[in-house]
Amino acid sequence: MDIVHSKRPDLTSVCCEILHTREAKKESCTEAGEYKCHETDDSKFYHCTGPKHGILLNCGNGLEFNPQYNVCDWEVDGDGYCKTQRDQSKTTHDVGATTKSPTKSVVTTHSVPFKRSSTLSKILSTTTSKPSTHSQTTSKPSTQSQTTSKPSTHPQTTSKPSTHSQTTSKPSTQSQTTSKPSTHPQTTSKPSTHSQITSKPSNSLKSCRKSNEYKCHETNNSLFYLCTGFETGALKTCPEGSHFNPVASICTCSNIPNAVKCHNQDDQSKTTTSKPQLTGPCQPERCKLPKCKCPGTEIPGSLPTNATPQIILLTFDDGIYWQTFDYYRNLFSMNLTNPNGCPVGATFYVSDSKYSDPALVKELYDLKHEIATHTQTHRLPSTYWNNANSSDYYREIVGMKNWLSEEASIPKEKIVGYRSPYLEQGGDTQFGTLKLNEFLYDTSMVTGSFSNTTEIPIWPFTLDYPVIKKYCQLRVCPNNSYPGFWEFPLNRWYNEAGDDSFSMTDENRVPQNSKDVISYLKYNFNRHYKRNKAPFGIFLHMAWLMKNLAALQTFLKEVSHNNDVWIVTVSQALQWIQNPVPLDKISEFRNWKC
Ligand SMILES: [Zn+2]
Repeated sequence: MDIVHSKRPDLTSVCCEILHTREAKKESCTEAGEYKCHETDDSKFYHCTGPKHGILLNCGNGLEFNPQYNVCDWEVDGDGYCKTQRDQSKTTHDVGATTKSPTKSVVTTHSVPFKRSSTLSKILSTTTSKPSTHSQTTSKPSTQSQTTSKPSTHPQTTSKPSTHSQTTSKPSTQSQTTSKPSTHPQTTSKPSTHSQITSKPSNSLKSCRKSNEYKCHETNNSLFYLCTGFETGALKTCPEGSHFNPVASICTCSNIPNAVKCHNQDDQSKTTTSKPQLTGPCQPERCKLPKCKCPGTEIPGSLPTNATPQIILLTFDDGIYWQTFDYYRNLFSMNLTNPNGCPVGATFYVSDSKYSDPALVKELYDLKHEIATHTQTHRLPSTYWNNANSSDYYREIVGMKNWLSEEASIPKEKIVGYRSPYLEQGGDTQFGTLKLNEFLYDTSMVTGSFSNTTEIPIWPFTLDYPVIKKYCQLRVCPNNSYPGFWEFPLNRWYNEAGDDSFSMTDENRVPQNSKDVISYLKYNFNRHYKRNKAPFGIFLHMAWLMKNLAALQTFLKEVSHNNDVWIVTVSQALQWIQNPVPLDKISEFRNWKC
């Protein structure tokens, strides 16, 4: 640790040093905000200010630019970090394309550096969670560095010329910083603004989703917020002469040409909030695949029914417990396959993080089933879900996603679906939470006539236009639009007499004995199969499966003899809907291969 400290460059007058940099011609720059290696000198690099232009910056003594992470790193023996980029520069201008044996996730995170503060937060957490020896060269507003026990120095290079190897080994930056100002926000000489936790969420703080995100101040570029949790944070001050840069989440000197200013973040947040962008009825001429689809009965891509696969969506809700898990094992032990020979896929909306067994969830995932969220607690009363606030929804939905990821080892990016407990929705609070947290779809809305069994089923649709009551018949529907966010509606089921209808397949009034159950399944299947082949949802709970496992197996075995019937996960269905491949080419459909 002492060695690291001894290498730390002087922290003074960063802004002044920037004045010594110069605009330079940099052919490989394609847009502002990129970072490029210097042509020959490993200790220098460019911060692009636009096509073919950038600021020449200097890493400082003992440091070299590392384009893999866009940081100034400790010197390495041999050819240096930039060799690969130089070798590739004739063919690519992508800094992130450097291949210095990164893991896949690292490439993903770093290849689009600093686009969003949340991206940066990931980098921050990565860099502070494991020890490394990279020198942190930026003035990033982070308090994380104060809490790590080992030096992590990987960081975000910024437009700062002299690279300060601000290591994270220091126990507290506050103590160092009160003496003189630098661009490190936490080291500013105005400590009075530092610990000012705002009691009332401002507009910016309302966009905080988790700790260690950074948000612009509403009006003052030299202030910013460090989020400390959901809709909460601390107001921080940039050092004199600098302002908060929301792309890099650092304080940068005000005089950098084309520096990203906070209004960009404001603009971004406007486009990602849940405010309606479109109003009125969905307009098919403007709403086109793959990103938009109006609600309705039309087959994606306007395919004829005989070129359309009949998708079956087999889903199970609630907790996953060892006591009943063998029913799932039995169901899938029949080795059902789709027409391409791949095993069928089901989707599990998992709740109850307290008692669900993460190892069994993982077992399902490893069998290629989809894992999605159904809240942490699934609590009663059911009306709780109609009135829950943003914090509640965040805790329930994202909390469950985190549990699935951390306890059951399901990759976070694979957890993209949600179903409401009891199908009780929470309007824009629920849908805003889903959209903001990178979910792709919801499957809680019920549609279809209560009594007319001849209605054509509805295909999944996007919420680019506010949903109307016909497609969202239960309470509480969203009023806003959510561009690109999908809804897999629950088309009502009917009994064969046509005098009762059901949202879920297994409501307690549905037929009970095995023969009737098979008949009920077939009757409702044909309402889809013989009409517009809208995905046929068999939406179940364990209690029903325990009674009807054999009947379900019989039905699935029988329908899967049809070479146009595919039992796939909801995400796989979405992939086909966005890219509707006709049956004669479907064996080539990448997303349904195994
Ligand atoms: Zn449930």
